[in-house]
Amino acid sequence: MTDSFGRNIDYLRISVTDRCNLNCVYCKPENKWESHDILTADEITRICGIFAGLGITKIKITGGEPLLRDDICGILKKIRALPEIESLTLTTNGILFRDMANEILRCGVDSVNFSLDSPDEEGFCKITGKSGIADVYAGIRKALDLGFKSVKINFTAIRELNYDRIIPIARMAEKYPVWVRFIELMPMGSGRNFTPVYTDEVKKILEDEFGVPKKLEVSGNGPAKYCQYGDFAGKIGFISPLSECFCQDCNKIRIASGGELILCLGHEKSVNIKELFEKNISDAEITKIIEEKIKEKPLNHNFFRKNLNETEMYHIGG
Ligand code: SAM
Repeated sequence: MTDSFGRNIDYLRISVTDRCNLNCVYCKPENKWESHDILTADEITRICGIFAGLGITKIKITGGEPLLRDDICGILKKIRALPEIESLTLTTNGILFRDMANEILRCGVDSVNFSLDSPDEEGFCKITGKSGIADVYAGIRKALDLGFKSVKINFTAIRELNYDRIIPIARMAEKYPVWVRFIELMPMGSGRNFTPVYTDEVKKILEDEFGVPKKLEVSGNGPAKYCQYGDFAGKIGFISPLSECFCQDCNKIRIASGGELILCLGHEKSVNIKELFEKNISDAEITKIIEEKIKEKPLNHNFFRKNLNETEMYHIGG
C-alpha cells in the first residue's frame, strides 16, 4: 500500500484497549476506567486481515495495556495465523507480563517492548502512580530467558520526571542484552504538560558517561537509530520524532482502541472502521475506503502547531 507521497505503508499499530493499570502522569493521569466502546476480538482480527490484504506485514499490539484483555492470547494467535504477517510484536508496561510470557511466546509474538520510564521504584511510582517495578523486572527477565527475538525497553525522556534516570536506564543495556530506546516526548494529550529531553542532549549525557558510541546499521520496524556503547551487552536506540523528524520515511498507520484509523499521530482521526463494520459494509468495500483514506496521510506531523494534539496516547498506543 503506497500513500500519495510514495511511502510504502507496511506497518500497523493497533490499540486493543484504552484501559491501563498504570496512571502515568504524562499519558493517562486519571485513575479511572474508560467507558469507550472498544474493538471486539473479532473486529481486531478482521481489521488485521483487511490490512494484511492491503500490504501490511508488521503489526504491533498496543493500548492502553494490552495484557488487561482476557482475550489477548486468542487475538494474538489469530493475527499470527495471517500468512502475510511477518512480524508480530507487543508493547506492555510489563506488570502482568511474567505470568503470561510463555503463552504470549506460544501465540507467536516475535518481540516485546517494555515501557519503563524509571529503573527504580521511587521514580516508577512518581511517574506511574503505582508500585510495581519488581513485576516489570521479573517480566523483562522472563522475556530474556524465553528468547524473544528482541526485548526492548522504551524510556520516554521527560525533563520534569526522569532526567536523572537517563544514565541508570542506559545501564540496563550495559548489563543485559536489551535494546534501551530513548524516545522524545511528543506534545500530545497530557504529554503537553511536560518538557521533552531531545535526543542530542540524551546523547551528550551518555557520551560523557560511557564514551563515544559506534553507530549501528541495525534497523527494526520503526524509526529508531541504534548505537553501541563500549562493551554493553545490549544496544541503545534513539527515537526522535521532534528533533529529527522521520516523517519522510514513515511506513506506519494506527488503529485506535475505538476503531479509528490514525494516519499520523499529529493529525485528526480518519475513518472509524468499527462503525463501518456496524453498518455491515463488506471487507471489499472497506478495503476501497482505506485505500482512498491512505491518500490523505499527511507528509509531516504538525506537533509544532498550537492547540492540536488533544488526543490522549492511551487511546492510540505509543
Ligand atoms: N501499556 C503499553 C505500554 O506500556 O507499552 C502501551 C501503551 S503506552 C501509551 C505506549 C508508549 O507510549 C509508552 O512507551 C509511553 O511512554 C508512550 N507515550 C505516551 N505518551 C507519549 C507522548 N506524549 N510522547 C511520546 N511517547 C508517549
